Amino acid sequence: MLNLKDPSLFRQQAFVAGQWCDADDKTTFPVTNPATGETIGNVPHMGAAETRRAIAAANEAWRGWRAKTAKERSAILRKWNDLMLANADDLALIMTVEQGKPLAESKGEIGYAASFIEWFAEEGKRVAGDTLPSPWADRRIVVTKEPIGVCAAITPWNFPAAMITRKVGPALAAGCPMVVKPAEGTPFSALAMAVLAERAGVPAGVFSVVTGDARAIGGEMTSNPTVRKLSFTGSTEVGRLLMQQSAATVKKLSLELGGNAPFIVFDDADLDAAVEGAMASKYRNAGQTCVCANRIYVQDGVYDAFADKLVAAVRKLKVGNGLEPGVTQGPLIDEDAVKKVELHVADATEKGGRVLTGGKRHALGHTFFEPTVIAGVTSDMRVAKEETFGPLAPLFRFKTDEEAIALANDTEFGLASYFYSRDIGRIWRVAEGLESGMVGINTGLISNEVAPFGGVKQSGLGREGSKYGMDDYLVIKYLCMGGI
Ligand code: ADP
Repeated sequence: MLNLKDPSLFRQQAFVAGQWCDADDKTTFPVTNPATGETIGNVPHMGAAETRRAIAAANEAWRGWRAKTAKERSAILRKWNDLMLANADDLALIMTVEQGKPLAESKGEIGYAASFIEWFAEEGKRVAGDTLPSPWADRRIVVTKEPIGVCAAITPWNFPAAMITRKVGPALAAGCPMVVKPAEGTPFSALAMAVLAERAGVPAGVFSVVTGDARAIGGEMTSNPTVRKLSFTGSTEVGRLLMQQSAATVKKLSLELGGNAPFIVFDDADLDAAVEGAMASKYRNAGQTCVCANRIYVQDGVYDAFADKLVAAVRKLKVGNGLEPGVTQGPLIDEDAVKKVELHVADATEKGGRVLTGGKRHALGHTFFEPTVIAGVTSDMRVAKEETFGPLAPLFRFKTDEEAIALANDTEFGLASYFYSRDIGRIWRVAEGLESGMVGINTGLISNEVAPFGGVKQSGLGREGSKYGMDDYLVIKYLCMGGI
């Protein structure tokens, strides 16, 4: 059914301890294409026992993997990066079929995903220790950095490849093995990457992919004392639960949780640039990214002009099956996702919001939704507080800079924020006033492997990508050298 150049990349088994295997009880679950509702294939429905084995195998493999030099690990990772790029067409096809995003976006994600492997392959060679001036004449202080140990990762469906490599890249480069549980909706991208990891020479047990029951697998990952660190990307609700579950074994945590990104357009903004940024930030991946603009605040004087320009741009989006040429917005991931957007539209319109374009399910059926813009949105509406995770741009009106900053910060989240202005003083004041881990200034696209991705408040803990991303997989050891 899938027309792959290399059909062996499509695996319907999990990858545990270097073996392709089924669930112990042979049960499977189907994975569907959100654009057509068709079943693409089935993957093993594994639970705690299989996860325990993957963790034990990772622990076995740890000694050999950490004993390699950083350069040796780097060479293997480099090969994995090269294989991902060489197979980008197939990986993108698998992604579009299971996730729904347009093929061009999938290809973009494969490049982005591989960039984390490449970056950390290089960065791993630069993990250096320290010597500190000692307060004692007869002793010296040396600081070394060591791999934390067996890591586990739970990843979401919105970026089926990149959310995995952003975790596996630094873990493996640092000398840690990792067991990954991909989202139920998008396991095939993860399994295809495992095929390539094996081909690149990643030793058995160093990288395992366990598919199946999220609660059972997550329960084992969080309670098993062998796991020293858990990295999770997903909802704040599940993040809180995993944090609680990890408390008993005091695991180190990286959490990339929900966002509720404000996107502020000041009256001195380049409006065309602001519209372009809003389109990229809001409608990419059909609005299903944690850094998507969720609340668009527009200053009074430019509100109507911005709304007109945005609506014109939104009407040019082409909704359809991501495999079709020219499509710029695919389906949403599932029925629940559509219901949430419908709920936000209904709530906003009941409370006085006006639909400028879109506003309902798309005529294509399934989980397609019309790209939507709503004007006259206010703080008492659901869209102000909750992440929509869909193609809905709500336009709020504000008057002063202080008001904009206060509104932007009025949320429990603090992942990304964006604003458009050309005044240097305002740019500094607003950038410093926003409570978020990342700020896009005159741009709607901020993610890359070189920059630290992560949030403040209830958007999470830790940073991924960049030179800082390695720290989450390392522990510091202090050697006090006496007798000198
Ligand atoms: P989303 O709303 O993006 O689906 P989730 O937080 O529900 O976000 O899912 C992100 C990842 O967390 C997925 O891999 C999912 O299977 C997993 N997950 C969901 N619930 C649990 C749980 N109770 N324990 C462990 N993992 C979970």
